[in-house]
Amino acid sequence: MADAGSGMATLAHQAHKGSPLEMALEQLEKAAALAGIDEGLVKILKTPKRSLTVSVPVRMDDGRIEVFTGYRVQHNLARGPAKGGIRYHPGVTLEEVTALAMWMTWKCAVMNLPFGGGKGGVICDPRTLSPRELEQLTRRYTAEISVIIGPDRDIPAPDVYTNPQVMAWIMDTYSMQQGRPVPAVVTGKPIAVGGSLGREQATGRGCAIAVEEAARRIGLRLEGARVAIQGFGNVGRYSALSLEAMGARIVAVSDSSGTIRNPAGLPVRELVAYKRQHGHVMGFPGAEAAGGPDRVLVEPCDVLVPAALEEAITAENAGDVQARLIAEGANGPITPEADAILARRGITVVPDILANAGGVTVSYFEWIQGLQEFFWPEEQVEQELSRRMRQSFADVWETARRYGTDLRTGAMVLAIQRVAEATRLRGVYP
Ligand code: GLU
Repeated sequence: MADAGSGMATLAHQAHKGSPLEMALEQLEKAAALAGIDEGLVKILKTPKRSLTVSVPVRMDDGRIEVFTGYRVQHNLARGPAKGGIRYHPGVTLEEVTALAMWMTWKCAVMNLPFGGGKGGVICDPRTLSPRELEQLTRRYTAEISVIIGPDRDIPAPDVYTNPQVMAWIMDTYSMQQGRPVPAVVTGKPIAVGGSLGREQATGRGCAIAVEEAARRIGLRLEGARVAIQGFGNVGRYSALSLEAMGARIVAVSDSSGTIRNPAGLPVRELVAYKRQHGHVMGFPGAEAAGGPDRVLVEPCDVLVPAALEEAITAENAGDVQARLIAEGANGPITPEADAILARRGITVVPDILANAGGVTVSYFEWIQGLQEFFWPEEQVEQELSRRMRQSFADVWETARRYGTDLRTGAMVLAIQRVAEATRLRGVYP
C-alpha cells in the first residue's frame, strides 16, 4: 500500500530510458502542457487501461513444444472500442506494445474515428517459422486474447510481419469459438472473407496524400521530387507506388538487406516484383548498392518516408538528413531529440499519427462494411480515404498554427483534446 494514491506504481512510470514508451510519454506531456489539459486527465492518458500477457504454446514441425509470449494492450476506450494492429517480431516488448497502443489512441482521435487505441504483439521471428507453425501460433494467440477482443471491444489488424492471411486465421479462430462467423472482429482480412477493397494499399496511399498536402503548403513541387523510402513492406511499397503515380521519383529504397539507389528513379512496380521473388531489394538490376539499411535516411532527396521500425532517426543521424519533408510511414521512427534537431534545421515532419493513419481509416471502413454486410466499390474507399486524410491534415495544420508548434505537437494537441473531452464527459467511474 506504500504507493497508494501516488500513482507511482503505474505502468507509465516503468518506461526505460530511450524506449518508445518514454518517447510516447514525452510527446504526450509536451502536448498536454501546451493544451492545458487537466493533470488528473493526463494521469489517465499516461496509463494503459488494460494489458494482457499470454503464453502461446506451439507444437513445432519437429515435434518439440515451443512457448512464445504475446501481449494485447488497450490504452484508452473513451471514444470507442480499441483498434490497432498485431506485430510479430523478435524485438517485441510490453513497453513497445504499450507505446504503440497509445499512438493508436491518438491516431484514431486525429482521424476522428470512433475508436480507442490498442496494440498486440508476439515475440517471435516469423521468417523462421513454417506456414503451419505460424498458423498454430496465430490461432493459439487469438484464443488467448479472445477474452478481451471482439467487434465491439477491441479489433486487431495487421502490423509489422503480419498480413491478410494471419487476419483470416484470427477471424476463423474467433468465429469458431463463437459458433458463428464474426468478420468484424479483425480488419485487414483478405477480400474473400470480408476484407475491404483498398485496405492493403491504404497506409501507403494515405501517406502519399499526406505528403501531397504538406508539399503544397511548404511550396515543394511533387512532380519530379526525389523520394527516399526506408523499409519496403506494406507501407513502404504502397507509399512508393502512390508517390510515383503522383509524379515523384523514388531515388532510394532500403530494407533489412541494405539500401539501393538510382538518381534517375527506381521503377517501383518492377522493384515490388523483384522483392516478392527474392525476398529483398539488394541486387535489383538498374540500381546501385548504396550501403547498409540506415544509409537511405541520409541519401540526397526532397522527401523521406521512414517506413520501417521505431527510432530510425535519432540525435546521431538527424543532422545528416537531406530531405525537406519527412512523412512517418512507421510508428515512432523519430526520437524526440531528433525531432528537435530536424525542427531547428527547418525540416517539416508529418507525424505518424497522421501520415500513416490511412491504414486504420480503411480498417474503419472495413469494420463498418462487415457490420452492415454491405461492401463498397474501391473508388468509394479511395474517395472517402482521400477526403478524410485531407480534412485531418488541414485540422492538424490549423491546430499547429494556432498553438505555434510543429505538426507532431499539433496533431497530439488535437488528439488529446478529443480524448480528454470524451473522458471528461463520461466521467470517472464509479
Ligand atoms: N497497424 C496499423 C497502424 O499502426 C493499422 C492498425 C489498424 O488498421 O487497426 O496504424
